[in-house]
Amino acid sequence: MDIVGGLAAVGQALEIAKQLREFEKSFADAEFKLKIAELYSALSDAKMALADAREAIQERDAEIKRLKVLSVRKVKTIRVRQYNYGINPDGKPASPPFCPTCEQTRGLQIQISHGTGGHNLCPSCKGIYNARDTALPVGFQMPDNETG
Ligand SMILES: [Zn+2]
Repeated sequence: MDIVGGLAAVGQALEIAKQLREFEKSFADAEFKLKIAELYSALSDAKMALADAREAIQERDAEIKRLKVLSVRKVKTIRVRQYNYGINPDGKPASPPFCPTCEQTRGLQIQISHGTGGHNLCPSCKGIYNARDTALPVGFQMPDNETG
């Protein structure tokens, strides 16, 4: 049950409570007990729904925190051909570049690792890349007014 269901259950409980107050004197014992049972049921539904909502909010908060950390940690990059190369503190690009699959699907900067047999691979998603494509061109120079 979600927040909408929780609010509906609370509304139902309030309606029952209102009926109990209005007809307190005229209710037969059986009717009264039935209404009390309905009230308890509606309130326990509301309690469960609110607990679920609290859990959902906590999960969302954790996800927001995780994404904030990721966005802060992102390093500046330079795009060469179809790959983004991280820029080291000395201003020079780091090769190999970041895995484009991990960047696009998860927003992660995972540097591709040097592999064997002319292939490089992503340590995270295990994507395989042509070693020549995932290396900076020979004699590559950073553009003069690169600001990232
Ligand atoms: Zn990857």
